Amino acid sequence: MKVNPQYNTKETLLKLYNKPLLELVFEAATIHRQFHNPREVQMSSLLSIKTGGCSEDCGYCPQAARYNTGVNAHKLMTVETVIEQATNAKNNGSSRLCMGAAWREVKDNRDFDNVIEMVQEVNSMGLEVCCTLGMLTDDQAKRLKNAGLYAYNHNLDSSEEYYADVISTREYNDRLNTIENVRGAGISVCSGGIIGMGEKVDDRIGLLMSYMKMENPPESIPINALVAVEGTPLEEQKEIESWEIIRMVATTRIAFPESVVRLSAGRTSLSMETQGLCFMAGAGSIFAGDKLLTTPNPEFNEDSQMFDILGLIPKKPFQDGCQPESHKDEIIEKKKVLAEKRKKELQEARDKAIKNNFKPRVFKSVDSIKNEKQLSK
Ligand code: SF4
Repeated sequence: MKVNPQYNTKETLLKLYNKPLLELVFEAATIHRQFHNPREVQMSSLLSIKTGGCSEDCGYCPQAARYNTGVNAHKLMTVETVIEQATNAKNNGSSRLCMGAAWREVKDNRDFDNVIEMVQEVNSMGLEVCCTLGMLTDDQAKRLKNAGLYAYNHNLDSSEEYYADVISTREYNDRLNTIENVRGAGISVCSGGIIGMGEKVDDRIGLLMSYMKMENPPESIPINALVAVEGTPLEEQKEIESWEIIRMVATTRIAFPESVVRLSAGRTSLSMETQGLCFMAGAGSIFAGDKLLTTPNPEFNEDSQMFDILGLIPKKPFQDGCQPESHKDEIIEKKKVLAEKRKKELQEARDKAIKNNFKPRVFKSVDSIKNEKQLSK
């Protein structure tokens, strides 16, 4: 049951969201137990492979170039660094690595070729590979799938109505198109929202309704609590109450019984008890590691302590789907052949020059000609 037919309208979903809290949690916990192992929680690591300098104006994001947030921008990481970080994440119990780049959209350039290689490498380590790189074309999604990408994250953030209050440099439809391209390529979709941006409850329900209308709702729905960062337009937003995130997690759980609901950004301000209620209400994943792209996140050891106390166990990779195969990338292979051909041609030209005893003409500077003339006088 991908979507719960009992709650497929705005009215029924809103009624569900507003249920007495403990009844809502109980209903969510019951559904969760029917479709998932309630003790298993996936630990995912989020790695910022390219930080800051983004041309977009998402009001919550410290990586937008136009806001003064003190984020240190850096270029795309090397494949070697990504492998190192992925190894650490795996050793610390993560079964998924999500690589995030602060791009508006993916461009068909060398950076994207490098991301393709990163996907191939991390997939070969037995981790679920997820990317969040901005907007994607159909062909780019296919290349990522071919490289072994398991999931692609592209959040809708909020309702269509509220979206324009937070972001002006792209439209809701742009997001929907990318999700369609990801789905079309056969990649698992990860898409969710942020609460606490000043939106109304109606907007939270509107976000869920956007997924409800999809032929195939996302396999993975992250629920983030806004981390208000100084320098962003949303810096003044008040932290949400803990029961709001519990409500949102529970409502999402009940509405999309098969999806993995991910308790994502904003966990540093949630007590272990609140997080415990979120797991009870159906959250099946957290991000591990002390940073979530650029914002703080609980340390690995804090989370493993929480897992011990709550009796949770880290979920193994590929429990919800097979590991994709990594295939060679045609574009990269063509570029390699071309580079090899150029190298060979250059070598042949050099060999020929040596064979013909070619002596390059020496170009004299004007000064040295003048000197020679003076000496010969
Ligand atoms: S959320 Fe993504 S697209 Fe928006 S400003 Fe940040 S990095 Fe850019």
